[in-house]
Amino acid sequence: MDVVVVGGGVIGLAIAREAARARMTVRLLERGAPGGEASGASAGILSAQLEAHHPGPLLPLALASRALYAPLVAALCDETGVDVDLRRDGALIVARGGAAAFELESTFDFQRGLGLPVERLEADALLRLEPAITGAAVLGLRLPDEGSLDPAALVRALRLAAERAGAEIRTPAEAAALSVSGGRVSGVVTADGTAHPAGRVVVAAGAWTGSLAGPGIVPVPSEPVRGQIVAFEAPGLIRHVLHGGTCYLVPRSDGRVLAGSTMEHAGFDRRVTAEGVAHLAAAALALVPGLAPASFHSAWAGLRPSAPDGLPVIGPAATEGLLYACGHLRNGIVLTPITARAIVSMLRGEGAAVEGIDLAPFSPLRFADARADA
Ligand SMILES: Cc1cc2nc3c(=O)[nH]c(=O)nc-3n(C[C@H](O)[C@H](O)[C@H](O)COP(=O)(O)OP(=O)(O)OC[C@H]3O[C@@H](n4cnc5c(N)ncnc54)[C@H](O)[C@@H]3O)c2cc1C
Repeated sequence: MDVVVVGGGVIGLAIAREAARARMTVRLLERGAPGGEASGASAGILSAQLEAHHPGPLLPLALASRALYAPLVAALCDETGVDVDLRRDGALIVARGGAAAFELESTFDFQRGLGLPVERLEADALLRLEPAITGAAVLGLRLPDEGSLDPAALVRALRLAAERAGAEIRTPAEAAALSVSGGRVSGVVTADGTAHPAGRVVVAAGAWTGSLAGPGIVPVPSEPVRGQIVAFEAPGLIRHVLHGGTCYLVPRSDGRVLAGSTMEHAGFDRRVTAEGVAHLAAAALALVPGLAPASFHSAWAGLRPSAPDGLPVIGPAATEGLLYACGHLRNGIVLTPITARAIVSMLRGEGAAVEGIDLAPFSPLRFADARADA
């Protein structure tokens, strides 16, 4: 194999597809079901701006990746026929009360200063757009370029497209260790003892990335951050993605409205808890009281992969031939297209910038530097 990818979430699957389309021979190892961890649990918001309040390296990366989604979804539909429920109705941030409105004004000034698409809405205009929102809303921002999709469908599409492009998806196949030969990575050994030799290895093992080591390889540190989601059946109640400070709501075309999400440091515990459900249901009803009579549909949780500084980890490690694509925390779905493009461009030796974005802030080497300083 030219490349072995470890992990079959959206990040690993998108890399496998892109590498196979670039005529590399690719094998992906997934120990469970593809998309069975954070990717399948995600709310699927394609957001660059909802939480962009200050300058930082994430914003240009997310903007560039969001812009790649429409062509990616069209290509996936051609390659597989799978409809990923891409909705491009935009998002609304809703402020209730003076302090939240003050923060919203500052977000508006910041984003408008950068020339981003953002519109300030007084309460009556906000309620005209989304009549089900609480009457306590005092101010809103409309972000017309934000959207959403169904992550489970995205996983199906990426898997099929990767296979049709020639990638081999092996499951269940748990990577136990990275192999090293002559100072460079030479493949992966799975838990059943099978060697998977490869010229290059990409580790996209989500929150578990930190547990995959090899001779002389100290893995990139990673931590799980649990997120719970509650889904209601409320067809037609809202059209936009709504963000109300303490929760967000995402409409799906099948009539569900998702309320998310908690941010919990609970180790590798993926349970849905009474506290999580109660918090999300209360926050959702406070934002959209019209949800009160909606049927409960389901609830689930997933483990977001987080690096110590909260930024994604994309690029080559100190050991030659080893690359990381992990740590996408709250933004892994929106960052999927640019991550896959960046990794494949690095596999082709095309340098450390993609779509005009400098990838240096996302380098895995920042952790090696921190270890050397300590
Ligand atoms: C509740 C929730 C809501 C979210 N909402 C959004 C959102 O609205 N928008 C957004 O952009 N992002 C969102 N995210 C974040 C996003 O889901 C993640 O950042 C993204 O899915 C990470 O993808 P991944 O492929 O890196 O990780 P994962 O999907 O976790 O995939 C990693 C895979 O690696 C496999 N694996 C691990 N170790 C091994 C091994 N040793 N051998 C083989 N396989 C292995 C796992 O089984 C897993 O399938 C949300 C996350 C959660 C939990």
